[in-house]
Formats: sequence, structure tokens, C-alpha cells
Amino acid sequence: MNPTYPSSIEEYRQKIRSFLSENLPDDWQGIGAVPSAERTVWTENWRATLRDNQLLAPNWPSEYGGAGLTHLEHVVLNEEFAARGVPTAGSNDAFSISMVGNTILHWGTEEQKQHYIPRILDGDDIWCQGYSEPNAGSDLANLGCKAELDGDEWILNGQKIWTSAGQTANKIFVLARTDPEAAKHKGISFLLVDVEQPGVEVRPITNIVGQDHFCEVFFDDARCPKENVLGGTNNGWAVGNTLLGFERGVGATTQYLSFRAHVEQFIDMAKEAGKTDDPLVRQDIAKFHTKSEIMRIRGMQTLTRFLAGKEPGPESSINKLFWSHFQLEMTESAMNVLGPESLVHFGEESRGGLGPPAIGSANSPANWMASFLIARPGTIYAGTSEVQRNIIGERVLGLPREPRADGGPWKDSHS
Ligand SMILES: Cc1cc2nc3c(=O)[nH]c(=O)nc-3n(C[C@H](O)[C@H](O)[C@H](O)COP(=O)(O)OP(=O)(O)OC[C@H]3O[C@@H](n4cnc5c(N)ncnc54)[C@H](O)[C@@H]3O)c2cc1C
Repeated sequence: MNPTYPSSIEEYRQKIRSFLSENLPDDWQGIGAVPSAERTVWTENWRATLRDNQLLAPNWPSEYGGAGLTHLEHVVLNEEFAARGVPTAGSNDAFSISMVGNTILHWGTEEQKQHYIPRILDGDDIWCQGYSEPNAGSDLANLGCKAELDGDEWILNGQKIWTSAGQTANKIFVLARTDPEAAKHKGISFLLVDVEQPGVEVRPITNIVGQDHFCEVFFDDARCPKENVLGGTNNGWAVGNTLLGFERGVGATTQYLSFRAHVEQFIDMAKEAGKTDDPLVRQDIAKFHTKSEIMRIRGMQTLTRFLAGKEPGPESSINKLFWSHFQLEMTESAMNVLGPESLVHFGEESRGGLGPPAIGSANSPANWMASFLIARPGTIYAGTSEVQRNIIGERVLGLPREPRADGGPWKDSHS
């Protein structure tokens, strides 16, 4: 089952193919094949090419530097980029464009849009996400990082944690408590804060793969102007949730492509290890192929929703639960196929960030080991599996809600 797109969309596909042929080197094999030491610079240059061609934020209106693409054109663009293994944006753009950029376009004043949107596209402002705290993760509304008004400025005190790419960002969007007397979801504001100031300290945390993927961020009398609230004071819960909706984005429709490429790598690796006669390995290959097909069909369901003018909705929790466990399962099976070889860091390790490896990455035991380790937090970030199951139970299947203890003012539960 393959969707057929209208001819105008297929024409757009040809335009994207020509753009890629004109701008990628002739021997291009995918971003994973660019040597790790050169990848950051390559990606920065590629980001500039995308910006110059209005393809960095393709669905943004053209007056804000986007291309004003329809959902279907955007999907086709993602399909073509994924097929060539080329990134659709720079390394912090999941935060800068998909999350805060879209949220500024949704909730921002015209002044905020005029100020921030060009700075995001030009790469002057590089954002990270300050939501989680040591006592606020799944129960995000429990957050205690506070912001108090002092004349024309907010003064921030408190801590954030697990801030991905915090060390490469110069801006952080912060959910902060601005009214401790209000019920916990109601006294929060969404603030736009400079990282580069004396009251902010960023400490990288090294993850299990040895990468400084995320950070702790400390605010000690940090400041931001009063007007840096997005969506109104004490309305941060609504703004913060709008942003989480953008996190799911149109990418969900083509996400299966990188998982499918990873299944292909698994098959090649099993062949090389001489294990394709093993009935258990054959069974796993069939299972992983089937699961990548299920992801493709789920992607089409999401696309159908977009085309009907609907957002991904709570059903997107099914996709999150599915891909994160699929990744756990496949990388665990890879460890079994490789056997002791998986335990020595053998071969090139060129894995970048989270999720499946970039197209073109070496099919080496070291990369499989890194994939195995990187798959572990997949069931935690962007909502843990237990939380996804609660959402599916309550909001998709309509089962009874679990008891909530969010009644009174936030300060009473913290005194
Ligand atoms: C790789 C990675 C990148 C991240 N990047 C960012 C980032 O950029 N910015 C940011 O703000 N945060 C980030 N996070 C943090 C992430 O959002 C939190 O880790 C996540 O929300 C879970 O919160 P927690 O770690 O506090 O666990 P907790 O919420 O304390 O959960 C602990 C356990 O209890 C379970 N649990 C909790 N509540 C329930 C419930 N109601 N029902 C059943 N079980 C429950 C959970 O499923 C989990 O197993 C990142 C995390 C990771 C791993």
C-alpha cells in the first residue's frame, strides 16, 4: 500500500530532487558517512544553504522567512531528504525551529515574532528547552524554578536538568513558577531567557555513550526583561503544551524511513556475521521488517489527520511507545547477533545524536553498541512509556482517569 500524491505535489518532489542534486556532492552517501570531525561544520554550512533557499522552516509563512509549504509538500520534502540521508535542519533546530519558533509564531506578539524569528533562521539565537527539574519530569507542573518581577525584569532562581544541547545554546525557554499561590498548573509562565549572562551556569552531563548530550542549568538571580513572557503571565502551561504538540510535528509521517534504514543495516550486519541461517535471527528480521511497515502505515495515518486539518493528537503516544520499544528490541537483538564482538569498541563509531543512526553511518560493532545504549533513554525523553500508556488509556481508549492530587495552591504542597 503506497499513497499516490497529486501531480502538483509530484512536481514539487522533482524540484526538491533537483535542489538536492545541485547542492550535494556527487559522491554523497548520507550525513552518517561524513567523517565525525567534519560533521558539525558540514551541517552548519548545509543549514545556511537551506536558509538561503527558504527551506529551513518550510512550513512557516514566507513573510517570516519560510516557504509557506502545505503539509503534503512538507512531507514530500522530508521524504526526499530522508531518502538522500541529508538533514532537514541544523543540530539545535529541533528546539529553535520546531519547538520555540513554531510556538512564538503561535503565541507571540508581532514584536516578538519580528525580533526572534529572523534571529532563529540566521542562527543568531540557538535555543534549548528548560522544562525538566530534579523534582519535575513526568509531573512537570510540579516545577519549582521561580521567576519574580523586579521592576522591568524577571529574576530567576532554581534549576533545570536534562537540558539537551544546553552547552551549544545561547537562549533557553524556561517554564518558571510566577505565582506560587495559584494551583500548580496555573502559576507558571513561559520565559525567553539569555544563557550568556552571569546568573546562568550550564554544566554538561556525560551520558552512557560518553557524549555530553545534556546539561544541568542553574539560575542564580538570572534576569530577563519583563516583556520576555510568551503567551501572557501565568499562561505558561498552555504555551508549554502547545510547544509539546509541535515536538510531534510533521516529521512523524516520515519517521519510519530512518528506522527502515536501520533494519536494512541489521540485515547486512547479520549477513556479515554469517547468522542469516539461524532461525531466531530470521524470525527477528521478519519481525523488524513488519514493525517498520507498521510504522510506515502509522505515518500515513498521521498524514491523513494532517490533511484533514487535525493535529497529531493523543494517538501520537502510540507512535512514541512503538518506536522507542522497537529500537530497544532491535538493538538488543543486534548485540546477540554480534556476540562478544559487540563488547569491544570495534570499528568506526560515528553515531551522532539520539534515535536511529544517520543514513550512511558505518555498520560497525561500535556503532551498534552506541545504538544499543542510545536506545535506552528513548523510553524516557519526550514522555516515558508509562506516561504514554496513561495517555493512550485515558485519552485514546477513554478508560477512567488515574487519581490526580493537583487541587490546592502549589506552595501548600511545598511548605
Ligand atoms: C536523552 C534525554 C534528553 C532529554 N532532554 C530534555 C530537554 O532538552 N529538556 C527538558 O526539559 N527535559 C529533557 N529530558 C527530561 C525528560 O523530559 C524527563 O526525563 C522525563 O519527562 C521523565 O521525567 P523524570 O526523568 O523526572 O522521571 P520521573 O517522572 O521521575 O519518572 C520516574 C519513573 O516513574 C514513572 N512514572 C512517573 N509518573 C507516572 C505515572 N503518573 N504513572 C505511571 N508511572 C509514572 C516514569 O514512567 C518513570 O519510570 C530529557 C531526558 C532524556 C533521557
